[in-house]
Amino acid sequence: MAAGSVEGRETVTGPLLVQKYGGTSVGDTTRLARCAARAVDAHRRGHEVVVVVSAMGRRTDELLGLARDVNQDPPRDHLDLLLATGEQASAALMAMAIEAMGVAAVPLAGPRLGIITEGVHGNARIRSIDVNRVHEGLRRGAIVVCAGFQGVTAEGAVTTLGRGGSDTTAVAIAAALGVGGAAGSGACEILTDVDGVFTADPRLVPSARRIERIACEAMIELASLGAGVLHPRAAMCAQLYGVPLHVRHSQHEGPGTLVVREEPAMEHEAVIGCALTRDLGRLGVRGMPNRPGAQARLFEAIAAAGVLVDDIIQNESGVLADVAFTVDGASLDRVEAAVRPILSDLGGGVVERETDLAKVSVVGTGMRSHTGVASRMFAALGEAGIVIRNITTSEIKISCLVPADRGEEALNVVHEAFGLSGSRA
Ligand code: ASP
Ligand code: MG
Repeated sequence: MAAGSVEGRETVTGPLLVQKYGGTSVGDTTRLARCAARAVDAHRRGHEVVVVVSAMGRRTDELLGLARDVNQDPPRDHLDLLLATGEQASAALMAMAIEAMGVAAVPLAGPRLGIITEGVHGNARIRSIDVNRVHEGLRRGAIVVCAGFQGVTAEGAVTTLGRGGSDTTAVAIAAALGVGGAAGSGACEILTDVDGVFTADPRLVPSARRIERIACEAMIELASLGAGVLHPRAAMCAQLYGVPLHVRHSQHEGPGTLVVREEPAMEHEAVIGCALTRDLGRLGVRGMPNRPGAQARLFEAIAAAGVLVDDIIQNESGVLADVAFTVDGASLDRVEAAVRPILSDLGGGVVERETDLAKVSVVGTGMRSHTGVASRMFAALGEAGIVIRNITTSEIKISCLVPADRGEEALNVVHEAFGLSGSRA
C-alpha cells in the first residue's frame, strides 16, 4: 500500500479497536460466537470496533481441495473467486452472531470492502484502501466486520493476498483508519490460538517462552523465517505505517505480545528469538566461466522462474567460478531447469544438487550493539557436534545452514545458548 493512497482517512473519535480473528479462533460456530461476544464486549466498553476475519478452520485448504478435484491446474483468477468465499462466509456469520447479541453489524467483503489490489492473483499486493464504508458503519454505531485475505482489482476482479493474508488485511485497514498515525489513537489486535509470539516455536522447543515486547523489525525477520503467528507482510505493513500490534489469544484474556517500534530497552538483549526453516535445498554450479555478467544471467533466470534465493556463495579458481545458493527444496527442479540453458550458453559448468538442509536463525535488534553473537552461536552448535554448512547474516539476524536431521536439535541448542529458555508465561 503506497502512502497517500488512502481515501477517506480521518481521525475517528472513539478509541478505535481493530480485532483480527484467525481461522482456528472462528473454527466452528461456538468459537466464532465467543469471538463475536468479545467484539461486542469491546463495543459496550466504548470502543469503535472493526473486526477482520479469516476463513473458518481449514476452510481455505478444503476449497483448494475442491478446486483440484475438478481441475489440476485451475486458473488463478477462478481460484481467487473461490478462496475469497471462505472469508466471506466468516464475515457474514460473524455479523449475524453480533446482531444476535443486540449490536448492529455491517459485513463488508469483496468490492464493498474497498481494498484495491494489483492484479497478481493468489498473491496480490494492496494498492489502496477506501475506508469510507467502514467509517459509515462506525458512525452508525455498528461493528464493522471485514472479510480478510481479499481485495479486488481496479477492474473489479476478486483477488487474494497470499496464504495467511488476513493479518495483512487487518493491519492495512488499521493503518488506513489512522491507528498508530499522527493522532496516535487506537489499536490493532491479532487474536489467535496461541498466547503470543514465542522465543521459538514451542512445539519444537518446550522451554520457549512468550515475548513481552518485540520490535517490528525483529518480528518481520521471525515471521519471514516461518514463525506462523503473524504474516510477514502484515509485520512489514505495521512497520511502514507505525501500527502497533497486539498478538494475543482469542479465547482467553492474557497479556500477549506487543509488536512495536524499537525501544531503547530492546538493545539489552542481543537475541530475542530464534527459528528453524526446514526443507531447504542447495544448487551448486561448479566451473562456470567467470565472465562479466555471468552471475547476472544466472540469477536473472532464477528470478524469472519466480524463485527466492536465500544465500549465495562464490569461489573463484582462475577463470572459473563455483557458485552455490540455497532455495526452498520444492523449487530445486524449477531452479535447475532455469540454470541449465544459461550454463550451456556460457559454455560450461556442472550442476550439483543437495537436499535435506535446514536453517537455524537467531534474531534480535540488540545484535547491532552487541559483539560475540555469531561466535556464541557457532560455539553452541560446535559443542553439540552440529556441522555448519553455510552462514548468512544481516544486521539483526544470523543464520546457519545445518543438516536437516539436526535442525530441531540445533534450534534447541541456540535457544539455550542465548538464555531464551524460561518458565512459560
Ligand atoms: N484463509 C487464508 C489462509 O488460510 C487467509 C488467512 O487465514 O489469513 O491462508
Ligand atoms: Mg494466520
